[in-house]
Amino acid sequence: MIKVFLKHGRDESLRRFHPWVFSGAVAQVQGSPAEGDIVGVYSAEGQFLASGHWQVSSIAVRILSFDADPTAPDFWVNSIARALAVREAVGLVEQSMSSATTCFRLVHGEGDGLPGLIIDWYDGVCVMQAHSVGMFRARTQICEALRTVFGERLKAVYDKSSGTAPFKAGLELVDGYLWRAEGFTASETVVLENGRKFLVNWEEGQKTGFFLDQRDNRALVGRYAAGRSVLNLFCYTGGFSIYALTSGAVRVDSVDSSAKAMSLVERNIALNSTPGSGQLPQETSGCAGPHRCASLAVPPLTVPRVARFPGAVAAPSSPEFNNFCEDAIEFLKKTPEGKYDLMIVDPPAFAKHRGALKNALRAYQRLNAAAIAKVAPGGLVFTFSCSQVVDKITFANTVFSAAAQTGRSVRILDRLCQGADHPVSIYHPEGEYLKGLLLYVE
Ligand code: SAH
Repeated sequence: MIKVFLKHGRDESLRRFHPWVFSGAVAQVQGSPAEGDIVGVYSAEGQFLASGHWQVSSIAVRILSFDADPTAPDFWVNSIARALAVREAVGLVEQSMSSATTCFRLVHGEGDGLPGLIIDWYDGVCVMQAHSVGMFRARTQICEALRTVFGERLKAVYDKSSGTAPFKAGLELVDGYLWRAEGFTASETVVLENGRKFLVNWEEGQKTGFFLDQRDNRALVGRYAAGRSVLNLFCYTGGFSIYALTSGAVRVDSVDSSAKAMSLVERNIALNSTPGSGQLPQETSGCAGPHRCASLAVPPLTVPRVARFPGAVAAPSSPEFNNFCEDAIEFLKKTPEGKYDLMIVDPPAFAKHRGALKNALRAYQRLNAAAIAKVAPGGLVFTFSCSQVVDKITFANTVFSAAAQTGRSVRILDRLCQGADHPVSIYHPEGEYLKGLLLYVE
């Protein structure tokens, strides 16, 4: 194994189990590792500290182990089994066919001691994204380990790293199946999350196909949705909308600028409503097809669409729903004050890196000020940021500035974060990327 020696005094963070070695901390490399090779990291005094994947970037080594040998034959099986044990511990792994949740994040990068690796489980289909060259190069071993750990429960392993592996490494990736059970040809499946049905298409969908990190926050929306008029901004597959519709909301409007996302919302609403009830949409209010969507500014429906949702006990009658393929910020601008008394504001990461932070914070502030200004008196706003570089204090300060801008009285009822299947290593606080606030606006 090639040896990487650190500069004097730069071993502190590794001794505290932080999983990254920055290139500036490296004094000397014995030999010339290829990108993705496993290297040993040593202190200036020559003491072994850890081993991990070498990469030509500001993070030079992503640590895989502080003790075990990551080249050992059972390393990947053990690592996947340990990640699975965490999900089992919080009751996410289906024990039987009657499980209410059949999807979860199986491997969450640093949070599972596997920097650069994401694996999501969709009812037997594992969708993998490598964010590092080393993880990409290990994909066959990872796939074999998944087969060993899951046995017959595994239906397919899909590698979706083309958009996530480092572009500069010139790997020229093409997404594809690493393994499929005999006869398995699907590219989408219906998963259950807390009893709600969602269509996941891992080949075409954003990220691995579904935003699993919002599961608990969606359930919280379900808890507060009864009797409310709900606006779900940046809705993607309509996760929050489905919980609101099935929990007694009187009206749910969903907005996303992506035509593909809006067609998924339509399909998910249909999946969760009672067959044959209401006037389920064939022709939609927002998106009749990708060709029309991008430029279509859709007026609210004159004839609301309604559907019956089993379990929506609190609704006095079937809820009304409308789907809009539009820019969420423009939508908010023309939203009359007081029309909605529960809003969800879950935009994409406005800051993808530190350099974009200042502009991103301005954008979060504008967006939140608009939502707080428009929500009905006594209304709730669920507001989120998934930008890793915006920490929770900065986000809270930004929402504070937004509230102050509106002059309304705002209370924080709850502080929200990613679900338990997106664990954060205590030694790597940067892993806590999703943060949210539940606001009560007087
Ligand atoms: N809330 C979703 C995840 C949101 S991801 C869930 O629970 O699954 C962010 C979404 O914002 C994406 O679907 C993207 O298409 C959408 N988006 C990005 N920019 C937008 C804009 N300006 N207006 C509306 N939607 C936008």
